[in-house]
Amino acid sequence: MARVPLSKIQLEEDEMIVEGFEGELEGIRVWVTAVLERTCVYETPDLERKLVSKSKILVELDLDGQPVRDDGQKLYLERFIHAAIFAARPDVMAVVHAHAEDTLPFGIAEATKLRPVIHSGSFIGASVPVWDIADQFGDATNLLVINMAQGRDMARVLGKNSVVLMRGHGSVAVGDSIQQVVHRAIYTEVNARLQAEAAKLGPINFLTPEEAVKADAQTDSKASLSRPWELWKARVGKIE
Ligand SMILES: [Zn+2]
Repeated sequence: MARVPLSKIQLEEDEMIVEGFEGELEGIRVWVTAVLERTCVYETPDLERKLVSKSKILVELDLDGQPVRDDGQKLYLERFIHAAIFAARPDVMAVVHAHAEDTLPFGIAEATKLRPVIHSGSFIGASVPVWDIADQFGDATNLLVINMAQGRDMARVLGKNSVVLMRGHGSVAVGDSIQQVVHRAIYTEVNARLQAEAAKLGPINFLTPEEAVKADAQTDSKASLSRPWELWKARVGKIE
C-alpha cells in the first residue's frame, strides 16, 4: 500500500471490504486500520456489518491518536492501540484489535503460553507475549487502553512479534497489509482453539522453531494469503 495522504488515497476494493469481517467473525468485535503516510486510518464501527465507502467510515488520526481534522467526529478509545503500534513499528501497515474469546484464556492463564500448533499459526513464532496492564498501571484500571501511555506500553510488549495478547481484554495482530493482518487475526483465534482442544488430550507436540520459520515462509507468501482472502471476500460480498 502506498503511503500517501488520505485525501489522495484510493483504497483497493479488497481494502474496502474489511468492515465486513466483523460480520464474519460472529460475536467477535474487530477493529481494523491501515496506515497511510505514517498516519492511522481508523474504521468506526457505527455502520455495523454494512459495507460502505471509505469516506463514510474513516477518520484520519495522527500517531498520538488525535484527529488530523476536528470534524466533531466520534472517536473511539481503540485509536490509542493502533496509533502506538504504528508509531513504534514502521514496518506495520495494518492492525487488527479483537476480542476473540478463544484467545482470551491464553492472556489469563499464567502457566500456559499461546504457541504455534498448526502451520497456519506459524507467524506466532516462539509464543505470543502477554501485556498485563497491571504491570505498569496498577491493579485498578478498567483493563482498556485509554491513553497513549498505555498504548505505548502495550506496543513495547508486542515488540517485533506479530501478535500480542492483552490480559482480560483481547488481542492485537499486526501485518504489512490488510490481507496479512486479517489472516493473522483469524489464525490466532484458530490456533488458540486448537491448542486448547489438544491440551485436553494430553501433552502437546508444538511446532519446533525451525518448523515455524519454514511454515511461515510458505503460508505468509502472497499466493498463500490470497486463497483464503478470496474465500472470505466471497462470503462477505460486494461493496454497495
Ligand atoms: Zn478492546
